[in-house]
Amino acid sequence: MGRTSNSKDNARRVKRIFQFLQSVDFVPSSDLEARSDADVIMPIYFEAVMLFAEPFADDKSDNVLRTAIHANLIQLDQLLQVVPSSGPGKTQSKGGIACSKGCHFCCSIRVTTTAPVVLALASYLRKKHSADVMNSLMTRLEAYSQASSRLSPVDLLSSSRMCPLNQEGVCMGYEYRPHGCRTHHSFDVSACEQASKSGLVDAVIPQDPTRYEVQSIILRAYSDCMKCLAFDNRELEFIPALLIALSDTDAEQKYSEGEPVFESAHREDVLILQKQEMHRLGMIQLRHSQS
Ligand code: SF4
Repeated sequence: MGRTSNSKDNARRVKRIFQFLQSVDFVPSSDLEARSDADVIMPIYFEAVMLFAEPFADDKSDNVLRTAIHANLIQLDQLLQVVPSSGPGKTQSKGGIACSKGCHFCCSIRVTTTAPVVLALASYLRKKHSADVMNSLMTRLEAYSQASSRLSPVDLLSSSRMCPLNQEGVCMGYEYRPHGCRTHHSFDVSACEQASKSGLVDAVIPQDPTRYEVQSIILRAYSDCMKCLAFDNRELEFIPALLIALSDTDAEQKYSEGEPVFESAHREDVLILQKQEMHRLGMIQLRHSQS
């Protein structure tokens, strides 16, 4: 009885979401469907699409976008916990992954993200931390952003500076940290240490290709949904964007109405250079951003 009613509920849920996706002319990524492993990746992709779209299909609250991005971030975490490693240490505990609690070398590497993530993170930080803590955070964010804005694209790309959200090794916004922060799975902690000093240009961190693949599929589902919903999904410099989201209490509304509220945090010149550098190094190994 219970199982029948659960499966009916699920069928209703799927129907509701698919009707919504049809209404916004959602188009799945055709290159994913054409891949030889489509039978493995497409269920993951469609589950990610459904999770992101569901709050919009329900449309019960004024924080639909925040709920949707949170579902996407949490799905990524959950998948990364269960995906088997395909790296050099796959027979070892944790698949040879060197990451451990308290290690935060990756928190001094440049991060990029998108507007929904910083808006959701800003809302979370405001609720979670006291006014004093937030004032102190704002001071650190401003100092970080000012210093970044003075750097050339080359220097910004190779800069190394501890993220202002990292307090004594703990992320103040852990629940809503960007995709890139969730997907550092290094096999070599010494390479991370080197990267924390030298940034992207000289660093090659050996990472798990399977986890990279999972991240790509989840991000693809997210960006395909954002596209059909006509939201600006351009890549932003994380700290300047977060500063905007925290400074302007109307940022979320402006963003939802299509105002270019995060324009100053979008650095096309740096993104172009980043792609060139990744191409030059022939790697995706270091990817604290989500290009
Ligand atoms: S947001 Fe959190 S996890 Fe990401 S770099 Fe900053 S402190 Fe580290």
